[in-house]
Amino acid sequence: MRPHTLPYMTEEEIAEAEQVTLTIDGRETTVPAGVTVLDAARAIGIPIPTLCTDPRLEAYGGCRVCLVEIEGGRCPVPSCATKVADGMVVTATSDHLTHLRKTVLELLLSDHPADCMTCEQAGSCELQDLAYELGADRETFAGQMHDYPLTDDNPFFVRDYNKCINCGRCIRICDEVQNRWVYDFIDRGFDSVPSTGLGMPITDTICELCGQCVSTCPTGALSSKLKERQGRSWQTKATNSVCPYCGVGCNLTLHAREGKVVDVTSPPERGPNYGNLCVKGRFGWAFVNSDERLTTPLIKKDGEFVEASWDEALELVAKELLDIKEAYGPDAIGGLASAKCTNEENYAFQKLFRQVIGTNNVDHCARL
Ligand code: SF4
Ligand code: SF4
Ligand code: SF4
Repeated sequence: MRPHTLPYMTEEEIAEAEQVTLTIDGRETTVPAGVTVLDAARAIGIPIPTLCTDPRLEAYGGCRVCLVEIEGGRCPVPSCATKVADGMVVTATSDHLTHLRKTVLELLLSDHPADCMTCEQAGSCELQDLAYELGADRETFAGQMHDYPLTDDNPFFVRDYNKCINCGRCIRICDEVQNRWVYDFIDRGFDSVPSTGLGMPITDTICELCGQCVSTCPTGALSSKLKERQGRSWQTKATNSVCPYCGVGCNLTLHAREGKVVDVTSPPERGPNYGNLCVKGRFGWAFVNSDERLTTPLIKKDGEFVEASWDEALELVAKELLDIKEAYGPDAIGGLASAKCTNEENYAFQKLFRQVIGTNNVDHCARL
């Protein structure tokens, strides 16, 4: 589903929507009614920080990092959960708000391990970036710290709740987007932490191992095992691509280091999947690096497979199909199409079999 936030609305949708005009940090802006103050501010380049938001999720207002002041309001409010209104006057940038945001950060950091040197998320960690920007100090509220064991209960990701900031994004994406409801917070106060039901191994739940929770986690609390020690974000080259597994054609970003794919993410602003992937798209890419992967067609000559050009291979296939048709008739041939192809490719495939070869022996792997 496409997120209903300003960055994802088309120009036509924006133009057709009822408009409201408000002022943010002294700048007047006109935006569609119903968007949040956060969206409106970011749309004109005012960088309000957040930790618990993800455009794929409903507003939560949990981290209190995006606080802004509304003229006439009693106290600062979370901009991610506050809708714009006509004539609204917003202060998004002030020394007071920076102090509040920094205090929230320092409270979070007071119970956060200082292992950025070895943490997989360093370089793409929202908490690290924000702590740097605000100059937050881990020692300001130094005190009790958690010491949770690492949860390593599935082939694709590990959970280290010592790094959890209780933003709830993993819980909400599993609930709102994936409809699996695998996690929820357990316990209260300082001991509150996400967990599976009764703390059972994730493989004993209805988890699909899609890694959506990993994709939204703003810290290193949930991290992919496949990219462990494979390179920092700044050491990899990002290339946009399309998932080859099924006809949905989800947008992917391949992260490669020294020619090897080490991670796969998805750009949240591009459809049809808007940052969401299933287990195959997110974690099923190890074959790309396999030494056994075929990179050229093979033709059997004298009992041995030898490399061939595409022209050579396709000519051979066409010749063999014609020979079989001539010797045994078209119904001696059958074709099996693939769910990895698009509708258009599968349409062309059945056309080839029905009209060119002359048989109705054509099927699709999804029916097997
Ligand atoms: S991997 Fe997917 S289904 Fe499993 S807990 Fe995470 S979001 Fe939910
Ligand atoms: S595990 Fe990550 S996404 Fe989940 S609540 Fe903790 S910090 Fe947020
Ligand atoms: S296999 Fe999954 S990630 Fe790939 S295109 Fe299909 S739904 Fe998207």
